[in-house]
Amino acid sequence: MAKGSPTKKAEGPEYIRIVFDLPRHYDWSTGSYLGKVYAEAKENKKMVAPRCPKCKKLWARPPSPVCPKCKVDMGWDWVELPLTGTIFQYTYQVYPLWDPHEGERWSNPHPPAIILLDNGIYFRHLLEETDTKKLKEGMRVQAVWEEDYEKRGKGFQDILYFRTIEE
Ligand SMILES: [Zn+2]
Repeated sequence: MAKGSPTKKAEGPEYIRIVFDLPRHYDWSTGSYLGKVYAEAKENKKMVAPRCPKCKKLWARPPSPVCPKCKVDMGWDWVELPLTGTIFQYTYQVYPLWDPHEGERWSNPHPPAIILLDNGIYFRHLLEETDTKKLKEGMRVQAVWEEDYEKRGKGFQDILYFRTIEE
């Protein structure tokens, strides 16, 4: 036996420590269709969607190279979506609101809503107005874009929220 007694192995599981260097920056390809949506939002502050050559339906979310209904190639016929619409439905949020996945407090106070855009497409986004006493279905709203070019690059999320408008 060597001099000294061997080190007694610790009881219980052994742990290793892993340190993640966050945030991690990475690039990923959006593909041509989703890339078109991201580019139009970032460069031109426009919402676009491809139109099916057969059924003429617009597929905004997600933009698809194949029509989910007709199963035909969508081609490259893009339509600009209107930035105004009518509140079809909204959700009242009660605080504190916790993210069920992350367990962290939700920081965005803007009510999620379904907005009927002026071309007849239902579009899910946020409302600027947080006072539920002022919110009503049927109210007219308009998209408000992130004005800082460097902060854009999130596709439809480059729209911060929809603002109530008087017409
Ligand atoms: Zn179609």
